[in-house]
Amino acid sequence: MKLTDINQIKALLARHGFRFSKSMGQNFLVADWVPEEIAAAARIDRDTGVLEIGPGIGCLTAKLSDRAGKVLSIELDKALKPILAETLEGRENVEILFGDVLRQDLPALVREQLSPLRPVVCANLPYNVTSPVLTALIRADCFEQITVMIQREVARRICAGAGSADYGAFGLFVQWYTEPAILFDVPPSCFIPQPKVTSTVIRLKRREAPPVQVRDEELLFRVIRAAFNQRRKTLVNALSSGIGGLSKERAERALTNCGFDTKIRGEVLDIVGFAKISDEIGNYLSVDL
Ligand code: SAM
Repeated sequence: MKLTDINQIKALLARHGFRFSKSMGQNFLVADWVPEEIAAAARIDRDTGVLEIGPGIGCLTAKLSDRAGKVLSIELDKALKPILAETLEGRENVEILFGDVLRQDLPALVREQLSPLRPVVCANLPYNVTSPVLTALIRADCFEQITVMIQREVARRICAGAGSADYGAFGLFVQWYTEPAILFDVPPSCFIPQPKVTSTVIRLKRREAPPVQVRDEELLFRVIRAAFNQRRKTLVNALSSGIGGLSKERAERALTNCGFDTKIRGEVLDIVGFAKISDEIGNYLSVDL
C-alpha cells in the first residue's frame, strides 16, 4: 500500500478505528515527495542506524528502512501498534518501541539497539515537544547528525544569528553543540490533518568541538539565558538581575573589560562575545562566591 495516499490512509485508519490526537502532534504526511526528500537529506546508508521519533503510520519509516542498516522508531501512541504491524510487515531492519521519547535513556538505547552502526536521527517531529526533544537528542551526545522536520518558526530561531529578531537562547544552545542548516520548506497541504503553519526540514551536524573556547559552559548558558530572559533590558541590567552575586557595577566592568559598550543589549552579541563576557564574569564570581 502507498503510505502517503490520502484515500488509502483514510481507509486504513477507519478500518482500525484510529482517531488523530492533537496533543500528540499527529499530522501525517500525504505527499510522497516529502518522506522521500527527508530520507535522502539524512545521508543514510547501510552502515547507518537511524533513530526515528513518531513513525505515525510509517511512511518515513519505510523510506528510512529502504536505505539504513537499522531503524529504531519510538512511538508514543499505542493505538498505532496494529497499524504499524500491518504497514511495516516484513521489514526486518525496523524495530518499534512504544513509549515517550522524552523518558528514554537515549545513549543506552543507541548502544543496545543501533551499535555498531553510525547513529543518526531522522524524524517528522511532533510539534508540541520540538524543543524538549531536540534538547534531549543534543544532550544524548551520540548522534552524528539530526535531520528533522519542525515548524518553520522554530527552524528560523535555531539558525538565527546575532541581531535578528529570531535570535535567542535556544538557537545559541543548538548552535553551540551542532552546525544547523535549513534544507527545505513543506506546506500545510502535505499533511492530514493540515497544520496551521509551514514546516521546515533542518539538519543539525554535531560539532567535534564547541565553536569557541569557554572556561565554564554552565555559566555561559546562565549568561545567555539571563540576557534573553529580559531581552528588552540592557545587557548590564539583564545580567545583574539574572545572575545572583553579580552587581550592576561588576556587570558594567565585565562589558568594558571585554571591549563592549555598557549600553548594548544581549541580542547584538554573537557566541564569541557571550563566551568572552562569561569568562570575565567567572573571574568575579569565583572571587566572591
Ligand atoms: N512520521 C509520521 C509522518 O511523517 O507522517 C508521523 C509524524 S507526526 C508529526 C508525530 C508522531 O509523533 C505521531 O505519530 C505521534 O503519535 C508521535 N509522538 C508524539 N509525541 C511523542 C513522544 N513524546 N514520543 C514518541 N512519539 C511521539
